[in-house]
Amino acid sequence: MDLSKRKFKDDYKKMMTEVYSMDISEAEPTEQFFVLGNLVRTYSSKNWSHTNQVYVENKQKQTYYFSMEFLLGRMLKSNLLNLGILNTVRDGLYDLGIDLETIVQMEPDPGLGNGGLGRLAACFIDSMATSEIPGHGNGIRFKYGLFKQKFVNGYQVELPENWLQNGNVWETRKMHAAVTVRLYGKVWLEKTASGVLEPHYEGAQKVLAVPYDTAVIGYKNDVVNTLRLWSAEVPAQDESTDYWSFIHQRNQIESISEVLYPDDSNYEGRLLRLKQEYFFVSAGVQSIIRHYKKMRVPMLHLAEKVAIHINDTHPALSVPELMRILLDEEKMDWEHAWNVTVNVMSYTNHTIMSEALEKWPIDMISTLLPRIYQIICEIDRRFTMKMSTLFDPSIVERTRIIECGHVKMAHLAIIGSHSINGVAQLHTTILKEKVLHDFYLIYPSKFNNKTNGITQRRWLMLANEPLCNLINRKIGNDWETTPTELKMLKAFRDDEKTLIELAKIKHQNKERFAKHIQKTMGLVLNPDAIFDVQIKRLHAYKRQLLNLLHILSLYFQLKDHPEADLHPRVFIFGAKAAPSYTYAKQIIKLINSVADLINQDTTIKEKLKIVFVENYGVSLAEKIIPAADISEQISLASKEASGTSNMKLMLNGAITLATLDGANVEIRDRVGSNNIIIFGLREEEVYQYYHDGSYHSKSYYDRNPVLRRVLNALIDGTIPDAEAEGRSVFDSLVYYGDEYFVLRDFDAYSAAQKQIDQLYRDTLKWQRMALINIAGAGTFSSDYTVQQYASQIWDVFSRIRDI
Ligand SMILES: *Cc1c(COP(=O)(O)O)cnc(C)c1O
Repeated sequence: MDLSKRKFKDDYKKMMTEVYSMDISEAEPTEQFFVLGNLVRTYSSKNWSHTNQVYVENKQKQTYYFSMEFLLGRMLKSNLLNLGILNTVRDGLYDLGIDLETIVQMEPDPGLGNGGLGRLAACFIDSMATSEIPGHGNGIRFKYGLFKQKFVNGYQVELPENWLQNGNVWETRKMHAAVTVRLYGKVWLEKTASGVLEPHYEGAQKVLAVPYDTAVIGYKNDVVNTLRLWSAEVPAQDESTDYWSFIHQRNQIESISEVLYPDDSNYEGRLLRLKQEYFFVSAGVQSIIRHYKKMRVPMLHLAEKVAIHINDTHPALSVPELMRILLDEEKMDWEHAWNVTVNVMSYTNHTIMSEALEKWPIDMISTLLPRIYQIICEIDRRFTMKMSTLFDPSIVERTRIIECGHVKMAHLAIIGSHSINGVAQLHTTILKEKVLHDFYLIYPSKFNNKTNGITQRRWLMLANEPLCNLINRKIGNDWETTPTELKMLKAFRDDEKTLIELAKIKHQNKERFAKHIQKTMGLVLNPDAIFDVQIKRLHAYKRQLLNLLHILSLYFQLKDHPEADLHPRVFIFGAKAAPSYTYAKQIIKLINSVADLINQDTTIKEKLKIVFVENYGVSLAEKIIPAADISEQISLASKEASGTSNMKLMLNGAITLATLDGANVEIRDRVGSNNIIIFGLREEEVYQYYHDGSYHSKSYYDRNPVLRRVLNALIDGTIPDAEAEGRSVFDSLVYYGDEYFVLRDFDAYSAAQKQIDQLYRDTLKWQRMALINIAGAGTFSSDYTVQQYASQIWDVFSRIRDI
């Protein structure tokens, strides 16, 4: 948008008077933030209503991205950037004596997601608006986001994250668009005079779903899409309602959108979770249908105007919910309704880990959602009947929805969608060949790959302005909207001046992060050390333990040979563990105890430092990633579906140290084997071990003296104050089979780390690798990812061509 500095300053002062009736000089940073947020809203409001108007007038097909989680991060700067007024506003505020960076910190970071899956949804809505795809988010307005993590004596402690405490400037409550969601009760079918079966409900609990809309602003293109988050409220009561039963009912209902479940890649079969899933799906589908009907296009044509995307299985009830509406309310017959539903729905699988695959007990579903359960049974009956004529009975048994008293949500999503995609090439191959092979035999053409991506606006333009400025000086700024243009940087691969500039920027970013750590943790970091970063949820398969065992081996090496030629290292961890995931919490405690041991040991001359930041989230990621030299992506091959922190880190010039898992494979293909450090078991080797059962972790303990010493340190009192945790981890690795092959990959990992220690000493060589990584990161922009979804799955218009 066009905005002069003078106009902005006038607007800002005026808004300050309107909102607080005071002068800027009297305002606190929180108030300064709130006023700026309000102003930004008014700046985008015209385009927001205009975008909606255009969509309606053109009867444009709309995509709705259904996701239980949207891990948005702070929105002030991202909105300013996308409106094209970031610098004007920064300068204007400066004139008024206000520091933009200070007031940015006043915005709460809405943690409405656990990790990668929720962050992907956030990157996607940003990229859809920027790519001019009519695409909107649909989710839950959790009153409490992901818990706030604190360390107490090295243990994770969870505190509530009350992100709405001071209000949310970005949202608009849309009372007129509220819908009713029905839970419980009884339902039976009765034949009408015309002979069709009609459902009758009795005694259902009614929940009012109230939408809160947030503008999703495209990058400098005047497009504003919508993120619609639903809040559960009590419907208006009739006068006979008893006061106490009202209070009871209110507590029950409001609990639905109260809190995000903190389980990442881990299934929790609890009733409240099922309520949440049906709540936002039913509200979302109802509101889509209501909007569609205003266009006066026959319901049979729904799939020409609407696409619904199911992000992981959490929104899989979209399938029976849309069927319910088409059958019961729109009076469509089954075949037509089914055809419409399958054409509307598409599904992304995010994991192959069995502990993350949702399956609900049928008595729970049938009690909570009696009509939905009937429809699921009928979908299952028709599926098994049809497939029995075409396929082996064992295949049909393995693919049906209802089995052993449970409803399998992935099966429901696959059968009810026209497209199912994995999130990296390797992941999609494993789905087709292993995990979902039976479905692949039945529906080969439904399967496709869409490798995940990240928005370069948040993860480069906002997070790393110095690097962004360097890039713009070298190659111009076409890459902002055509990110593959970053490849032009390769022309500077042998330009010493550019490489030195790159090194300087990384150093500055490390100094900035070191300052932050000194301020928040009191730890002094050496910016000349290698900053070695592993930031992601704490999960056994991600193998933070492999990293930790290697750190211990370096520590012992230094204890034995204080003059050993090791380049100084700072190991940076950021990770939350699910509160019920005991093993992950033990690993957190262990890392913190090793950090205490090593950080306080003056005999190793500051060569090793461990920083475990508290409360890792989007805001911290934005601080850490620009300062990273090494990106640790060391999951057991086959277990990480894609990963996205790998992409963010490469975009910021970190060198990836990785197994060939998830999107790491595609990163290697992009930058070439010389510009990434690969180690460890491959996917085929892991499956071979599973097949022949020949992995015996204890033999690695017995035969490898370095490993033995490191593992013994877990149980011999070397590590302070972590006896129980050390013992538990030791036993899991040595005696209980080491499920994720940590000991098997230890030597290969140590060798790779040694190679890095050598490589880093050659600054030009290192920065050349960094440059090639930045240059290759453009393909991993979520702009391309959503454009591929738009053209290949959703069939909605997008201005920008696929790559
Ligand atoms: C990108 C991101 C993730 C995903 O990290 P992975 O290493 O891909 O698992 C998780 N949490 C936050 C806050 C992120 O920004």
